[in-house]
Amino acid sequence: MTTQLLTTTEQDLNIAAAIIRSGGLVAIPTETVYGLGANGLDPAAVKKIFEAKGRPQDNPLILHIHHKRQLYDFCRELPETALRLADTFWPGPLTMILPVRDCVPKVTTAGLDTVGVRCPANDATREIIRLAGVPIAAPSANSSGKPSTTTAEHVLHDMNGKIDAIVDGGPCRVGVESTIVDLTGPRPRLLRPGGIGPEALEAVLGPLVIDRAVTGEIAADAVVRAPGMKYKHYAPAAEVLIVEGSRQAAAAWVRAHFQPGDAVLCFREELPLYEDLNPTAYGAEADPASLSAGLFAALRKLDDGSVTRIFARCPTGGGVNVATRNRLRKSAGFHIVNANEA
Ligand code: AMP
Ligand code: MG
Repeated sequence: MTTQLLTTTEQDLNIAAAIIRSGGLVAIPTETVYGLGANGLDPAAVKKIFEAKGRPQDNPLILHIHHKRQLYDFCRELPETALRLADTFWPGPLTMILPVRDCVPKVTTAGLDTVGVRCPANDATREIIRLAGVPIAAPSANSSGKPSTTTAEHVLHDMNGKIDAIVDGGPCRVGVESTIVDLTGPRPRLLRPGGIGPEALEAVLGPLVIDRAVTGEIAADAVVRAPGMKYKHYAPAAEVLIVEGSRQAAAAWVRAHFQPGDAVLCFREELPLYEDLNPTAYGAEADPASLSAGLFAALRKLDDGSVTRIFARCPTGGGVNVATRNRLRKSAGFHIVNANEA
């Protein structure tokens, strides 16, 4: 199959919508990462997503809608908290887990009786959903296990010849996948950190249960609420090792262990400390949004086969840094050293 490259002109958005309606796959730009979209109500189309990505069948997809009123079409019950979150954060990088209606096929929800729903903050993608007249089921548009795609070029690299089209909407602003909050239990539960930080959610919801998938490592056979959280994820071919601690201590530790073929992934402020080691900065520590936006692109850049180990610096603190830290820890398989104690 030839993968068509589309822009965000009205004509191209109509082409994208027609492909979705006819059961094809289209990569769509969103503010989080690029999604690999299909008609979320068409089981045969949704199956193609799993095949193109090599995605495990027990990992459900998020249903993308163009307006919050569509919540009523796909969710059986809507707690008042869901409406409050939609009013506050949509369109935006928040996915809500809610009881699913029968019209959503099992393959989309991986057989669960809940569905993840999101209204993305990307005008072109909301227009495609509106024109298609169906919700778009979409996971991130990367090959399963690899860093997510935050540009159309990344998608082309992973999906060329496997999908019908890619809509190029430029680089993704947030750069990490959506915050996922489960509203089906007795208390709201954070399943995955994302562009909306836990503090912002708590300001609307009150205290939030933080699922252990957010901070800790999870065994492959564990029963988890967000099935996607247990898989090896976001991993370049090179081994990633997180070096925590003060700037000076981390630089000393890296210098003591650096070998030919290793690479340094750091904050922009730290570039002078690694000047002779050809470092890559993924953003500025003083600007957390730049770190989330730049992380996956940097991991992909270092995934060219020539790098054996990546020594990575990881941000501390709340907000979107919680998500950046979660993705980086997963890409490192939770290999972390503390240079202050080493
Ligand atoms: P991706 O967009 O590629 O990150 O994949 C979607 C994520 O949403 C995965 O981590 C899924 O486990 C999660 N997800 C989707 N639907 C549900 C659901 N009904 N319950 C819990 N997690 C979900
Ligand atoms: Mg993904």
